[in-house]
Amino acid sequence: MSTAAAAPRRTPVCIIGAGPAGLLLARLLRLSGIESVVLERRSREHVARRVRAGLLEQGTVQTLRTAGVGARLDREGLEHHGFRWRLPDGSAHRMPFAELCGASVWMYGQQEVVKDLLAAHTAEQSLYFGVEDVRIAELRPDGALVRCTLDGRLTEIACDFVAGCDGFHGVSRPAVPAGELTGHRLDHPVAWLGVLAAAPPLSPELIYAVSDRGFALQSMRSPTVSRLYLSVPPGEGVDHRTDAEIRQELDRRLTGGAGTLPTGPILERVLVPLRSFVAEPMQYRRLFLVGDAAHIVPPSAAKGLNLAVADARLLAEALDGWYAHGRRELLDGYSATALRRAWQGQEFSAAMTALLHPTPQESAFDRRLRGARFERLLSSTAEATAFAEQYTGLARR
Ligand SMILES: Cc1cc2nc3c(=O)[nH]c(=O)nc-3n(C[C@H](O)[C@H](O)[C@H](O)COP(=O)(O)OP(=O)(O)OC[C@H]3O[C@@H](n4cnc5c(N)ncnc54)[C@H](O)[C@@H]3O)c2cc1C
Repeated sequence: MSTAAAAPRRTPVCIIGAGPAGLLLARLLRLSGIESVVLERRSREHVARRVRAGLLEQGTVQTLRTAGVGARLDREGLEHHGFRWRLPDGSAHRMPFAELCGASVWMYGQQEVVKDLLAAHTAEQSLYFGVEDVRIAELRPDGALVRCTLDGRLTEIACDFVAGCDGFHGVSRPAVPAGELTGHRLDHPVAWLGVLAAAPPLSPELIYAVSDRGFALQSMRSPTVSRLYLSVPPGEGVDHRTDAEIRQELDRRLTGGAGTLPTGPILERVLVPLRSFVAEPMQYRRLFLVGDAAHIVPPSAAKGLNLAVADARLLAEALDGWYAHGRRELLDGYSATALRRAWQGQEFSAAMTALLHPTPQESAFDRRLRGARFERLLSSTAEATAFAEQYTGLARR
């Protein structure tokens, strides 16, 4: 159901999708005095409940504070200064990224960011949920027309700009005519099974555990709720393993089978295929692609949400330049600027994915290469600092 009676027939900016990118863009535009209409396919409850990413870079936290939605994050978010590696020989090593590069990260669930953005939305703002059949009907050099079904009625919204914030499977990217956009795609030969568990984390810092059995990540959402991932074969179903099997496998990979992984009910499961995708350019006429609509990364380096936030901030600044000062350079440069960051995110995410995932197909040679890479990361301050900068900070630049 929608949250207001009828959508305006005209708006400066029509935003498709109320994920983090769409909600943040609407919020930043509002702070600049620019009206927008947000059209979301799912219900408000569904959007606020969706458990996904949870690691926020320093630049992302700064953007959320600037947007006036950082108060709860500052109270409840967990600031981290380092993480731990667990290597195939069972050895443990700390990566003190804050000491190395002066930046920290925060653990704060994506759904909490979304809830904060929803709470900041004022009643007079046009935010519609349960909108069906959203379609970009016209994309002209000087404006656009979006059609949708709102409360059962066909509705047309004329706008200056469309922000496609509707994720990887949305309608915005396919609205660009064939030949105007190139998609670059890489499928990694592994998937992640993620669980949310009502159990304290094994360690107060994240653990990235690489073993001959596969990869595991211990993360957390709070001192009493853990977020845990196992690498699994790409075809494996989300219900393939019992809760007990998942716990046992996590314990083997994270503790070497010591039985010390805290246990608690598994609250939710998700299967995440590890894919990389970039659409170039991120603009066609008056349509701008933002976040997952333009690019997705494997979750190995936790860049997806951070890139989406950075895109939304960049587009908000560009639209402010247009409406407040009549300047179009930032809008014209949006795609090139956002793509530079997106490719940096892709490179680091692909490198991290290769580093973390021994695959059944790989040779002894590949394993030795991974060992050499870890040795350099653990023994060279220059190498570790470069890693720390990428881990903590694409959104800062
Ligand atoms: C299952 C899953 C698990 C993930 N786990 C992690 C993780 O563990 N770590 C990590 O770093 N990253 C993770 N990510 C990536 C991260 O969550 C995304 O990068 C982030 O959500 C991007 O935000 P967004 O606003 O661009 O897109 P989304 O969050 O996908 O939001 C898009 C919005 O558009 C709406 N929409 C779609 N189609 C339409 C339409 N036709 N009309 C109207 N609305 C539409 C959707 O309902 C949604 O609300 C995960 C992603 C997924 C899909």
